Amino acid sequence: MIHEILAVGPLECNCSILGDEESREAFVVDPGDDLDQIESILNSHRLRVSKILITHAHIDHIGGAAEFKRRTGAPVYLHPKEQPLYDSLDKQAGWLGMPTPERTTIDFALVGGDRLQLGPVEFQVLDTPGHSPASVSFYLPSESMVIAADTLFYRSIGRTDLPGGNGPQLIRSIREKLLTLPDDTLVIPGHGRNTTIIDERRYNPHLKG
Ligand SMILES: [Zn+2]
Ligand SMILES: [Zn+2]
Repeated sequence: MIHEILAVGPLECNCSILGDEESREAFVVDPGDDLDQIESILNSHRLRVSKILITHAHIDHIGGAAEFKRRTGAPVYLHPKEQPLYDSLDKQAGWLGMPTPERTTIDFALVGGDRLQLGPVEFQVLDTPGHSPASVSFYLPSESMVIAADTLFYRSIGRTDLPGGNGPQLIRSIREKLLTLPDDTLVIPGHGRNTTIIDERRYNPHLKG
């Protein structure tokens, strides 16, 4: 599988571009911004986007979704309980002093237990709420990888002080859905460097005890 990670926008959200070498089909996770760069990566691998997957509706992850859908024609996937947060995109832009990006209709619901197929690679959708009302993570068992977005970071965890955040729920999501994955699972967080499940189980100061 082709996998490129690009830090997009002023908050440097990790956008994942995942492609199947055989069919040249691609999924793009969290195209928050910098669509020209995302498209040039797709072009360099001769990939065509079939799905735009959004982990949660914070502006740094979903801000580019509408324009990216217009450019590529690919449908947008989001958990339905993230819709109110998406509807508040103008407020989120205000907090950051950014112009409000255009919004789009969500084409398909993403909920825990869903499975998506990219060539031979299965994406399992995990419900990992807490950072936002209905954040999801994507677990790719054949790649030993989880795209954890803003739920789990290298030696840190997602913030829960934004509207819809819930601290105890976040810890529960991490313990029950992420730390239960195999030790060597690579964690792609929503921001910053990669880590592994075993390292976070051992060394994450927020998950001690
Ligand atoms: Zn977030
Ligand atoms: Zn983020």
